[in-house]
Amino acid sequence: MINIKAYKNLSATCNEKNVTLVAVSKTKPASAILELYNLGQRDFGENYVQELIEKEKQLPKDISWHFIGHLQTNKVKQIISFVHLIHGIDSLKLLKEINKQSEKINKITNCLLQVHIAQEETKFGLDENELNEIIQQCDSSSLKNINVCGLMGMATNTDDENQIRKEFHYLKSLQTKLSTVNFQSSILSMGMTADYKIAIEEGSNMIRVGSLIFGNRNYKPV
Ligand SMILES: *Cc1c(COP(=O)(O)O)cnc(C)c1O
Repeated sequence: MINIKAYKNLSATCNEKNVTLVAVSKTKPASAILELYNLGQRDFGENYVQELIEKEKQLPKDISWHFIGHLQTNKVKQIISFVHLIHGIDSLKLLKEINKQSEKINKITNCLLQVHIAQEETKFGLDENELNEIIQQCDSSSLKNINVCGLMGMATNTDDENQIRKEFHYLKSLQTKLSTVNFQSSILSMGMTADYKIAIEEGSNMIRVGSLIFGNRNYKPV
């Protein structure tokens, strides 16, 4: 069940603050997405390639699909033709594959570099050195079909607000730093159900919110 009231409040907040709201619909049925679509929502986020492909087939073509999960190189070609923004780039190998597949269909694909800002070992992402290396490669190499347009990060899953704020603050500072070296980094994708308020306070302009809108997820597909 969609929480319409929560969605409308969130959507109004985002409009007011110029923040893009990505509704994270992973594990939720196409019918729930359509319900939100009918309220005006167009940006949706998915984590699993197969699930995204199935939904894309069934749903209106003017939806902007965000891939927010960990993308395997061998699956890039399955989503490249319709994906609007890929959030989780964490290797040059993946960027090169996206470039190659984009070139084939004459498309420029929008990508965000994922930075590891959390304390947990398990979360994907680049550290500051790796980030700088990738950006240099982007500048100097022939990744002509890639548009790296910003950064993405996930904070530690904790009740400690100061910790979360510190991590988002760090990501924002990285983005600011990069903008001085001629890196067009306009998007800062940070904040989910538990921490989007802090993320917006710390400079996020794109939040990825699932459970607040769609309710808790009760299964995890493979
Ligand atoms: C699932 C997911 C979200 C949404 O999480 P909620 O806590 O349900 O808002 C956001 N970002 C990423 C990368 C996710 O995997």
